[in-house]
Amino acid sequence: MLEVRNIVAGYGETTVLRDVSLSVPDGSVVAVLGPNGAGKTTMLRTVSGSLRPTDGSVVLDGEDISSLSTQRRVRRGICHIPEGRGVFPSFSVKENLLMFSAKGHEKEALERSAAAFPPLANRMNQIAGSLSGGEQQMLAIVRAYITDPKVVLVDEASMGLAPLVVESIFEFLGRIATEGISLLIVEQYVSRALELADSVYLFSQGRVVKSGPARDMKTEEIFEQYLGIQTAEEPARAGRSSSRN
Ligand code: ATP
Repeated sequence: MLEVRNIVAGYGETTVLRDVSLSVPDGSVVAVLGPNGAGKTTMLRTVSGSLRPTDGSVVLDGEDISSLSTQRRVRRGICHIPEGRGVFPSFSVKENLLMFSAKGHEKEALERSAAAFPPLANRMNQIAGSLSGGEQQMLAIVRAYITDPKVVLVDEASMGLAPLVVESIFEFLGRIATEGISLLIVEQYVSRALELADSVYLFSQGRVVKSGPARDMKTEEIFEQYLGIQTAEEPARAGRSSSRN
């Protein structure tokens, strides 16, 4: 179980997160939704360790890991897929995968990757930056998956992708969740996030303003009451993303 307890965090003099708490039970999918600038990415960064909170703690399986480096958190099974995917664009698909493979298990890692997402099998030598946006996102998720993580933090996996591509990405996320990997996802596709998630936290201005089981949340209510948008057109904040794959 991953727990974020009373986190206060920000950048320099600016406080972004104000007393944020949430929990991700083992094997569950937790979605964080909210308008631009609500602090969702900042929260993921405090969990992965790339941003140190000024107060509060991050607890994994009962152990306070707040003082651990990002690298040590990775070793504990926390894998962060940042917005923009974080693949190395000038390296090949294979090289990207090998960077995340355990020593001595490289062949197995490549085989698992190809089994998880078959299109990668024929593209091992292709430069990652020349893959489509959807394929790069899948590469980022598969690369996380082969590390056998406990918790994967996924920031805006659907960003800039066409709906059909988003569908296959969510399908894959759902599949890895059934294997017992916990997911903490930040999403702009409200209805898809509600379908995938077990529970949801709604952020606004650095605070959790609503939380609960996903089945109790209504897409329209989230749009109108919490995102300040009158229609339920997806994605919620379509204004800043283009649809391409
Ligand atoms: P978005 O979907 O737009 O990324 P978000 O909910 O993920 O929204 P954050 O990215 O966490 O929001 O940003 C929260 C606030 O922190 C915003 O006001 C943003 O401008 C500010 N912020 C984010 N990163 C930095 C940074 N590196 N330095 C200073 N301020 C930052």
